[in-house]
Amino acid sequence: MKYPLFVFLSLITVMLSAQHQDKVDFLRAKVDISIDPKLETITGTVTYELKALQKVDSVFLDAQNLQLIETRLNNKKVKTTNSGKSIIVHKTFKANRSYSLEIKYVANPKQTVYFLGWSDDISGNEQIWTQGQGKYTSHWLPSFDDMTEKVEFDLNLTFDKNYEVIANGDLIGTKDLDGLKKWSFNMVKPMSSYLLAFSIGDYHKKQILSNRGVPIDLYHYPSDSSLVEPTYRFTKEIFDFLEKEIGVDYPWQNYKEIPVRDFLYAGMENTGTTIFSDTYVMDSIAFKDRNYVNVNAHEMAHQWFGDLVTEVDGSSHWLHEGFATYYALLAEKELFGKEYYYWKLYESAIQLQELTNKGKGEALIDPKASSLTFYEKGAWALHMLREQLGEENFRKGIQQYLKKYGYKNATVDDFINEMELVSNTDLSAFRNRWLVNKEFPFGEAKTSLVRESEDLKNFFGLQREVMTSSIDNESIIKRYWGSTKSDQLKSQIIKTYFKSLSEDFLIEALGSNNVMVRQAIAISVGQIPLNLKSEFESLLEDESYITKETMLYKLWINYPSDRANYLDSTKSIIGYSNRNIRLLWLTLALLTKDYEPNNTNDYYVELSGYTSPVYTYEVRQVAFQFLEELIGFLDKNLLDLINGTQHHTWQFRKYSRTLLDQLLEKKEYRERIDRLKVKLNERELRYISNKLISE
Ligand SMILES: [Zn+2]
Repeated sequence: MKYPLFVFLSLITVMLSAQHQDKVDFLRAKVDISIDPKLETITGTVTYELKALQKVDSVFLDAQNLQLIETRLNNKKVKTTNSGKSIIVHKTFKANRSYSLEIKYVANPKQTVYFLGWSDDISGNEQIWTQGQGKYTSHWLPSFDDMTEKVEFDLNLTFDKNYEVIANGDLIGTKDLDGLKKWSFNMVKPMSSYLLAFSIGDYHKKQILSNRGVPIDLYHYPSDSSLVEPTYRFTKEIFDFLEKEIGVDYPWQNYKEIPVRDFLYAGMENTGTTIFSDTYVMDSIAFKDRNYVNVNAHEMAHQWFGDLVTEVDGSSHWLHEGFATYYALLAEKELFGKEYYYWKLYESAIQLQELTNKGKGEALIDPKASSLTFYEKGAWALHMLREQLGEENFRKGIQQYLKKYGYKNATVDDFINEMELVSNTDLSAFRNRWLVNKEFPFGEAKTSLVRESEDLKNFFGLQREVMTSSIDNESIIKRYWGSTKSDQLKSQIIKTYFKSLSEDFLIEALGSNNVMVRQAIAISVGQIPLNLKSEFESLLEDESYITKETMLYKLWINYPSDRANYLDSTKSIIGYSNRNIRLLWLTLALLTKDYEPNNTNDYYVELSGYTSPVYTYEVRQVAFQFLEELIGFLDKNLLDLINGTQHHTWQFRKYSRTLLDQLLEKKEYRERIDRLKVKLNERELRYISNKLISE
């Protein structure tokens, strides 16, 4: 899974609580479900083929709040108890016998399955999708919270024929059932339950083939066909690169990528079926600043590291996230060059060093470590391991590890053992330094960067000279600037030493016409010197939504008399899918005195409308922030905010709850919210009533 970078929380602890049952092996599951999107219920039958390895007098499955209809063992009714957390089948299971266990049930999942857009008036925005990791598939299917139980799941799903249903495996057939349709998927290899997934919505797809002929389905909303190319740019290249680099064929039948609205993370690597946030659906301009390439490569790498070989528990989480982060970096190195790779390692080294300096460094084998540790320190550990063992041994070790533990589970020690065997090297020093040690070994990391990267060697040299030299900074900076062609190094120099740079230097740098260098200047500038006004105004034309947004705001602040001109020239720009530029533009237009007075009302209505649940939560949150600064909220916005307090993404739920608490402290808002109670649904009403009583 890939978190947005600002989220550092650990979902791992909860995984540790899963029970373990090692005397029974569940081999195959035929799952047959139908979904009612209005009631948010799933009615299903699952038939497990299982084998008792020893004699046992019961078996159990995890099942969160499922309602049991009937349970049959070898086609006979069997005594079952349902605790609300698990289903226990009471029967003597004889050693080495195979059994067929059929469970009919109804689920009304409060998590793991998310229903979006089914209660509004907009047609085409309806979605249903799952998130199994950290959320537990056992909320919609009797299955296994324990990752070590690997099963071959074949999913059959019956739904409205007007939608597209996507799930793990090969779509082997569909069948019309008066108005409904049944989609049948077939898997051939086993996986852990948390990787089982489906996604339903209005989708089109573009299919491409890997070099080896593996089908890769790129799903998109019907209205987004022009965004398929920039969104999925380099998908085939990444797939082919990973197969070649890892040296083990992609382990599943096909690969699908499906964007969904208001996803909980950046992406999730369900087996062969990656689900990702549709904020990564973007045009060619957006691609330059923040694209899907890294998340795309990360989830794809998980198909080997996580899906094929799965951790035993959270103490081996490095085997998932460190590996996916590292292989995504290698893919980016292949696409964007060696220096790109080292700059990324440098950025994460700085973050990790800060964590260490704050005394918050974490060991990679700590199941409660943060994402920064699992992902970035994890990638660093592999980078250093490869340097120590050499490419050939590293690759050979990775291949042996994947072959030995493929479709099974492994621990960190299992991995280290394979690497030691193949290289005939004692890795206990490496293990202590990179996996057990809480501190990030920054000195060692820096040595590696300086040795391999021309850019970083220069950058560290520049830093040292500036610190120790008595001559002025700019002449040192100019020397380094003049001797490099690297845009990354130049951008870094600007961000680090902006205050030391003269107007002449900035004119020259802006004149380079390099979007990246110019963006670094846009981000770094505060006060825009009058002499450079027209140079800075030209940044509004740059092909970067970050540059445009930053400069629209800074120019508007710096030059009040030209506000109308800045607004006129940026009127038609939307920005990213989170509408960053449009939302800022509306706010500035409303704040600019005498700007298009006839349209003021329309602009207010538009901005105010963006708090509605029909928009993604990123758009809603920014709209709330701007409205709060501007003129406050209409009743409609208050209802949207109350709706936000029940949102399925914790970031937006928390934001909405905090803002609502602030509003409730004001008498006027308190009274208005009290009057709005008649318009709330049951869940919202319960939440608000508690708030009104408790404060
Ligand atoms: Zn991941």
